[in-house]
Amino acid sequence: MQYVSTRGSAPALDFEGATLAGLASDGGLFVPAEWPQFSHADIAAMRGLPYAELATRIIAPFVGDSLTDDELRALCAEAYGRFAHAAVTPLKQLDEQQWLLELFHGPTLAFKDVALQLLGLLFETFLTRREDHLTIVGATSGDTGSAAIDAVAGREKIDIFMLHPKGRVSDVQRRQMTTVRAPNVHNIAIEGSFDDAQAMVKRMFRDEALTGRFHIGAVNSINWARLVAQVVYYFAAALQLGAPERKVAFSVPTGNFGDVFAGHVAARMGLPIERLIVATNVNDILHRALSDGDYSQGTVTPTAAPSMDIQVSSNFERLLFDVGGRDGLAMAEQMAGFEASKAMRLTNAQRDGAGALFSSCRTDANEMARAMRWACDAGGEIVDPHTAIGLHAAREAGVDAAIPVVTLATAHPAKFPDAVERATGMRPSLPSRIGDLFSREEAFTELSGDYDAVAAFVAERATPVA
Ligand SMILES: *Cc1c(COP(=O)(O)O)cnc(C)c1O
Repeated sequence: MQYVSTRGSAPALDFEGATLAGLASDGGLFVPAEWPQFSHADIAAMRGLPYAELATRIIAPFVGDSLTDDELRALCAEAYGRFAHAAVTPLKQLDEQQWLLELFHGPTLAFKDVALQLLGLLFETFLTRREDHLTIVGATSGDTGSAAIDAVAGREKIDIFMLHPKGRVSDVQRRQMTTVRAPNVHNIAIEGSFDDAQAMVKRMFRDEALTGRFHIGAVNSINWARLVAQVVYYFAAALQLGAPERKVAFSVPTGNFGDVFAGHVAARMGLPIERLIVATNVNDILHRALSDGDYSQGTVTPTAAPSMDIQVSSNFERLLFDVGGRDGLAMAEQMAGFEASKAMRLTNAQRDGAGALFSSCRTDANEMARAMRWACDAGGEIVDPHTAIGLHAAREAGVDAAIPVVTLATAHPAKFPDAVERATGMRPSLPSRIGDLFSREEAFTELSGDYDAVAAFVAERATPVA
């Protein structure tokens, strides 16, 4: 399988190359040159498979020659063996039509574990084979940092430097990063905002004093291997609800458009999906784009669902490319226009193509709180703020009553105890396996907002490549 760039001029790479590169060299994102297809019979034959085996079947066509099926099967078994639920992503019924797909049974209690646990193993496998070493630098406002650290802690071929804005992530989120004690994990608390930390990381990728000595890498959701791991749970849920004979709709709390794009991939591969509902909070650039064709950047409003507080959705470019005729050079021009003016209109082909499968809904703070209470009262479930936004969108979408609607539950409610308590009066507690989080010892380095100090810190501790 070959991967091409959405901006049309970077050379195509295989799965291993695309995984290690992250971003394409022309600034675009990698997408498969064509979509693997599963027939009705292929999908019917997947019923009842254990999660790791289902993952192997679905991911294998994307991996191509980069791994044998047995190698891939071993990595999937290891990654998903670390989840606390035997089903990995269990499905729960709320009422006749509404369901929750719980994606938070991994080590750090958010859906990002599903992809990052596998990505950590893929990195280690490919780096060992190439005798290479990766220095991952990242900035986090919460969930990505802890999931990435957990996925690579203790791995020989990788160092990770994770910057978080000092005092601006929750206690649970910070402790999930700073209590992981491994020689290759480096947590840095930076004076300043998330954007300041992010700007430093971007500068490190262009800093020749670093890139000349180290193989600098990223783990954000533009990495194709992350998306592919997320396709699996769309199949897992739909198979349990009657696919391929019956259609299913999904509602997805969305920020960077990675998770919901994986649903588009599942549909392209032949899974009968009735509709994908893009659920946003008041940071609604995606809702405006899908309902009105207006993709224009506003300013970020902080909400109780911080992982959706974004104004530019990197992975949206993959959808626009795929439904808009797969014309890389036209895409490059469109994105250059967006980068210059912070606004663009979708083409008619992009609007029609997206409209065939996607709808969208914007949810404010009151509607989110109401959805949390409904989940408690009607379904007996406590949901986190991100999931509540998905649930509100699911119930507003007007999907035919015969079709089940699955909301992706993207975080455990105990990650956001204050917001949950405000809405429902109940304070969720951490699952017992991480119940000692607040008694574990923390380790992190505090640095000022001075770039040179941060770059020097990385250069002293990272492993150079030949
Ligand atoms: C990252 C995240 C999201 C958004 O996912 P995208 O793939 O960026 O759309 C939603 N909910 C939670 C809890 C997250 O951590």
